[in-house]
Amino acid sequence: MIDANYDAAVIGAGPAGLAAALASDSAGAKTLLVEREASLGGILKQCIHDGFGLVRFGEKLSGPEYAHRFINKIRSSGVAVSALTYVTKIKNLHTGFELTLVNRDGVFKTTCKSLVLACGCRERTSRQTGIHGRHSAGVFTAGTAQYYTNILGKMPAKRCVILGSGDIGLIMARRLTLEGADVAGVYEAKPSVSGLMRNVYQCLEDYNIPLHTSRTVTRIFGEGRLNAVEISSVDENMAPIPGTEKIIECDALILSVGLIPENELAESIGIPLDNRTKGPVADQDCMTMIHGAFCCGNALHVSDLVDYVSESGETAGRAAARWADSGCVRGSQDQDNYAQIKADNSLMYVVPQIINLERIYNPGTDVKIVFYFRSKDEMGKTLLTVTLDGKEIFKRIYPRLRPPEMERLELDFKNLNIKGSSIVEFSLSSTEAV
Ligand SMILES: Cc1cc2nc3c(=O)[nH]c(=O)nc-3n(C[C@H](O)[C@H](O)[C@H](O)COP(=O)(O)OP(=O)(O)OC[C@H]3O[C@@H](n4cnc5c(N)ncnc54)[C@H](O)[C@@H]3O)c2cc1C
Repeated sequence: MIDANYDAAVIGAGPAGLAAALASDSAGAKTLLVEREASLGGILKQCIHDGFGLVRFGEKLSGPEYAHRFINKIRSSGVAVSALTYVTKIKNLHTGFELTLVNRDGVFKTTCKSLVLACGCRERTSRQTGIHGRHSAGVFTAGTAQYYTNILGKMPAKRCVILGSGDIGLIMARRLTLEGADVAGVYEAKPSVSGLMRNVYQCLEDYNIPLHTSRTVTRIFGEGRLNAVEISSVDENMAPIPGTEKIIECDALILSVGLIPENELAESIGIPLDNRTKGPVADQDCMTMIHGAFCCGNALHVSDLVDYVSESGETAGRAAARWADSGCVRGSQDQDNYAQIKADNSLMYVVPQIINLERIYNPGTDVKIVFYFRSKDEMGKTLLTVTLDGKEIFKRIYPRLRPPEMERLELDFKNLNIKGSSIVEFSLSSTEAV
């Protein structure tokens, strides 16, 4: 039974949404959690390998075990849960939001004072990789292959090629091998691997699965079902090099070529997105540029570890409850209320992208801000420098930075005289150059 109004509504019950709903409920907000699938847990339901929760729980849990720590708490909380329910439309009422919900019982509307978008991300598909040839059956994203294997108990391939070295592809290389498939190799167009190094060791090297960098799939063969793919070497611009083509016979091509935050609902209410993260521009509370609308987890930016997804969910949920309780007074979206975060060209991105100064200077609120960033390229010993209006406020040396590995940093802005129009700039430099 869905009520007519809530203080806070959370869309998506993956780890981000579960943490957000729990935090909002503990802060005293009447909270609704909406999930389009039949059960809670998001992508974790199909991640039966271990490696989740090392930061938060100091334990190596499987995805379902990690999710259940939160689902059990949801069951004994005051959160109203509506599973098998799709949020199809959001209307910005300016004093809150109206949600259109569709489920087996019909179409419903409900309102909320604050909204948390925790819709996760989706995988890049074959149409987005520019592979030529007929797209016959047998082309799967790694997540779909994982769903077939781990949830449906069906093998998607007998002999496969994996294109892209993202973590899901590496994990599926191991999973399919364990289930008896022959994984001919993992092919990566970039000169370096896109996933975590621990997955390269544990999923490829331990199983003698070859990894080939600077190679890509240029053609797919097969009528009805795929029966071979063509692999070519690529140059430094990732263009295939003629004469390097090699045919590999296989019955499946598995793609692990990137994840994109799922933000159609955010865009439908005019929330500005960041070109670098593909998620909303947000402040330190995960509040987007539409006041009262928050975003967390992989919908905000794709995280490498679930622990950080839960952390951003908690931040968003607490702030959403506070927003609902404060009477939803929309502060000015004037530049003067925000300091801007700038990431120079050595960084892929920094999140949050703005600092809401009202939250820094209001007594009793947090002055410590959690930042997440990724380097743009593989770097050895590297110096991170953070400046405020050109003056250095923080530096740290990292032994190594890799784009697949997200870094977390807490900075304290107390007594730093940060102002509207201030610029906080992050930059990386090789220590040899210092
Ligand atoms: C294959 C794989 C392996 C991984 N391995 C590890 C690992 O070993 N260790 C680790 O720490 N992390 C790992 N991760 C990362 C971590 O699991 C994810 O970053 C995390 O689960 C993302 O959480 P989320 O809540 O943002 O999104 P999701 O888990 O994707 O949840 C989003 C939810 O929103 C729902 N939703 C979306 N739109 C709507 C709508 N309109 N209405 C209603 N509901 C909606 C979806 O159905 C979904 O349930 C892995 C990720 C993947 C994909």
